[in-house]
Amino acid sequence: MPQITVRFRRFTSLNTTIRLREGQIHASLSDLLEGAPDTVIRAIAHILLAKLYKKPIDAAQNLRYKRFSSSAAVTRQTELIRGARGNKRFSGPEGRFYNLEEVFDALNTRFFGGLLGRPELTWSEGMAKRSLGHYDAAHNTIVVSQVFDRPSSPRYAIEYLLYHEMLHLKHPVKMRGVRRCVHSREFKADEACFPQLKEALAFIRRL
Ligand SMILES: [Zn+2]
Repeated sequence: MPQITVRFRRFTSLNTTIRLREGQIHASLSDLLEGAPDTVIRAIAHILLAKLYKKPIDAAQNLRYKRFSSSAAVTRQTELIRGARGNKRFSGPEGRFYNLEEVFDALNTRFFGGLLGRPELTWSEGMAKRSLGHYDAAHNTIVVSQVFDRPSSPRYAIEYLLYHEMLHLKHPVKMRGVRRCVHSREFKADEACFPQLKEALAFIRRL
């Protein structure tokens, strides 16, 4: 068996490469796959080796990899990293109609006794509709989609989105066995306290 070197690299996509050079196999994987479960890593290894040696790819392994790479979490992380690493920059808290820092501070006083530390707040660069709001713990940043930064967008909709993400600051992800519990019972109970929850959800559905 040839010696195998695997590197995780900062790709902006999930690109994976493999080559055989001077009797050694070099594989490069996106760092987005670094935290993938063993079964997925195994599937990737299978696919890469099958490609390298021109052998058929096992359908079950292929499906496992496809399922993982298209899962919502990975998709979102890919978009986020693409946004942060590409030429585009996030546009900061000051929008054309709403200032996220002002909304955050008001919510902090109203619902959290002013106790939450303010993370980085920014409007998304594009008009993302798949990810309306997102808290990125690694960069301590709340990103809100720019689709909300317009006069037809009621303030309570932005407030609700920010409030939801602020609850992620208050209730960090819990592990229940091997499962990550992102929206715990306590989280949901707090969320239900938002006065215009129904109106906000209805607006988002229409959007
Ligand atoms: Zn959430």
